[in-house]
Amino acid sequence: IALFLLGIRQWYPLVLAVQREANSQATFYRKLVNEANSVFLRWDTQGRVLSINPYGEKLFGYPEGELVGRNVVGTIVPERDTRGQDLKSMIEAIEQHPEQYHHNENENMTRDGRWLWIAWRNTYVAEGLNGSPEILSVGVDITDRKRAEDALHALATASQLPGEEGIFERTVKQLAWAYGVKYAFIGTFVDETQRSIRIESFWDGERISRGKVYDIRGTPCADVLRGRIDHVERDVARRCPEDRVLQDWGAESYYGAPLRDTQNNPIGILAILDTRPLKLPRWNRYLINVFAERIAGELLRRCAEDNIYQLAHYDTLTGLPNRLLFQDRLEQALVHARRNSQFVALLFIDLDHFKHVNDTLGHAGGDILLREVAERIRSLLRRSDTVARLGGDEFTVLMADFHSEAELVRIATSMSQEFTRVLAEPFRIDGTDVYISASIGITCFPTDGSNLDYLVRNADLAMYKAKERGRNCFEFYRPELNELAERRSRLEMELRRALENDELRLAYQPIVDVAAGRVAGFEALVRWEHPEEGEIRPGEFIEMAEYNGLVVPIGEWVIRRVCQQLSHWDQESVPVPMVSINISLRQLQRGGLIGLLEQCVADAGTGSHRLMLEITESTLMHDPEKTLPLLETLRGNGYRLAMDDFGTGYSSFGQLRQMPVRTLKIDRSFVEDLDHDENSRSIVSAILGMGPGLGLEVIAEGVETEGQMHFLFRHHCKLMQGYYFSHPLAAEQCPEYAQRAAGGELPWQQDTPAL
Ligand code: C2E
Ligand code: MG
Ligand code: MG
Repeated sequence: IALFLLGIRQWYPLVLAVQREANSQATFYRKLVNEANSVFLRWDTQGRVLSINPYGEKLFGYPEGELVGRNVVGTIVPERDTRGQDLKSMIEAIEQHPEQYHHNENENMTRDGRWLWIAWRNTYVAEGLNGSPEILSVGVDITDRKRAEDALHALATASQLPGEEGIFERTVKQLAWAYGVKYAFIGTFVDETQRSIRIESFWDGERISRGKVYDIRGTPCADVLRGRIDHVERDVARRCPEDRVLQDWGAESYYGAPLRDTQNNPIGILAILDTRPLKLPRWNRYLINVFAERIAGELLRRCAEDNIYQLAHYDTLTGLPNRLLFQDRLEQALVHARRNSQFVALLFIDLDHFKHVNDTLGHAGGDILLREVAERIRSLLRRSDTVARLGGDEFTVLMADFHSEAELVRIATSMSQEFTRVLAEPFRIDGTDVYISASIGITCFPTDGSNLDYLVRNADLAMYKAKERGRNCFEFYRPELNELAERRSRLEMELRRALENDELRLAYQPIVDVAAGRVAGFEALVRWEHPEEGEIRPGEFIEMAEYNGLVVPIGEWVIRRVCQQLSHWDQESVPVPMVSINISLRQLQRGGLIGLLEQCVADAGTGSHRLMLEITESTLMHDPEKTLPLLETLRGNGYRLAMDDFGTGYSSFGQLRQMPVRTLKIDRSFVEDLDHDENSRSIVSAILGMGPGLGLEVIAEGVETEGQMHFLFRHHCKLMQGYYFSHPLAAEQCPEYAQRAAGGELPWQQDTPAL
């Protein structure tokens, strides 16, 4: 305001003088006007610019020559404001009262699209410098004052809004708008180390986002939070070369205010940034700090709420969810499982003879033990599992997302074994080793109970059965599941010895090239010849081996054996172009796969191009960033990579393009449905249609009928595998198959359809 008044007072006599002696004082006028730090704009009654002083040229970014003759509307005055009509009536008003000044404040445009608030004083000059009537407008830039007003307004409205939902979002938007900057954000410290902040709300000029976490080392935020600076007027990106974000945003200027708690310790930051230099008068900085205080207050209030929530939903002794929260989570898990036809396991864990511990160690000792028990259980769980303390020495564990009951039984069994194992280790309390054990009861949704109450009751019953059986063990509610669990743990133990006892075999299933009428290769499939149970298919033990890590030595054995087999076939001149090997997630995650392959290939004297590595779609998509470099290397070393069970995962064609796979194996489930399901037919023909365009070769798995073969062949699928061509064969049977195929003697070769 002061600036504004100063401007007017300074020029007031001059304006009068100009009006009186316009022509004779032309030189004098020009000199003063040229040095003024207000805008001097002359325009005619049609709205056309006659002249502008150097200050005006600079402010609006137009050289005078470019502005003269152009209409003020559409150049410095935005069209949306005036719509022609307003300007006309304004000129009339000025004309009618030539003795008075006409004031107005409006938003004006600069040449590069910035907005400036200008306070104008307009004077009608009946006989202007050119002899005809003109208007002289003297303008003062009041943008900063206006912004401060807007900010105050925003602050006032933000605090009045009902419900607190979205206050951060509104604040950043309003800040950016009020200060005319592109970016504004609110961030809070992620943890006590105060090294990173999490964005609570971020406005990028177009939309709000949240949740990103930034390391603040080397950023202006770090300086603000340490109280070193608050404002960087220009060149901020260049000054903080480590701050990638500033570079990416093209940030030029920065202002930050710390958010503080009641003890004045920083808890976060509020900042605005722009791609242009940012001047901030003191008054405006003060306002941002007022905003910061308001936001900090809001954060503290939420924090207090969280504490109350924590008290109501968590067990104070162990920090685990309490009964209330557990029931809530279980309820949610059941809803989710019902919707997705999944299985949920509920484990009831009760410590054996805990009362005895309490009696001998006292309650304080008992508390230490319970806390340690909670920690040991928690350390074994996945993030998506929940463990809760229901009270006393009772704990429950909730595990969800199982696709089959068999999977549930396997995981629940091995988890229960793990629980009993970690709880059997001594607890060191007050210098003595204390030993305890636990009894575990397990129920399964939906088979053991369709609602929460039944499930909890049945888990409890199962736990009592475990106690009856002598404690320190687990028991499923349903007896069949116990048998299943027993068989599984027995098999798991026996699998450990299967390798040493040489019980594993490889079967080879032909992959045929229907168009060329020959064998394109074989897929190696592992078999377990169990001494009592006979042949066990990989479906039963690979998943288990994947879980306990045995899949790594088994996979190593497979690779070695396949390479030896290839070299053997080469010596016998059996025409086998390649063998395909299934690789599991664990093998990819554990280092050493490349070294192993290279060594086996070299030992056997075959080439890497003779091996195809099959990786399931879900494995490939598990952690693409991690596996991608490994896959690239494998491809670079000459191995062929195939995506197995394609169609069962969720990869898009966009993702496929980035994967170094050359081959897709369409999952058996699609091929199976070809005869009767229109949907599968469209999916398969779409995959076959798009494959070649992406440079991918397609193999159809699980072809069992002539009809399926014909359909696939008609849609240009040449490579197929399945019982229609051959079951998996023992290694000794392969040469004969390959030879008969070379001679065109196999049944499927008799009726190969013409393309
Ligand atoms: P996969 O890689 O998709 O292998 C194809 C499976 O489909 C094999 O089952 C094969 O016997 C079966 N199959 C082939 N043609 C037909 C058909 O026409 N109809 C039907 N119904 N089935 C057919 P298998 O041998 O039981 O193997 C199951 C899965 O176990 C394999 O699926 C693979 O993911 C895994 N696997 C097998 N061997 C290994 C191995 O050495 N290492 C690893 N990590 N996984 C293996
Ligand atoms: Mg496979
Ligand atoms: Mg497959």
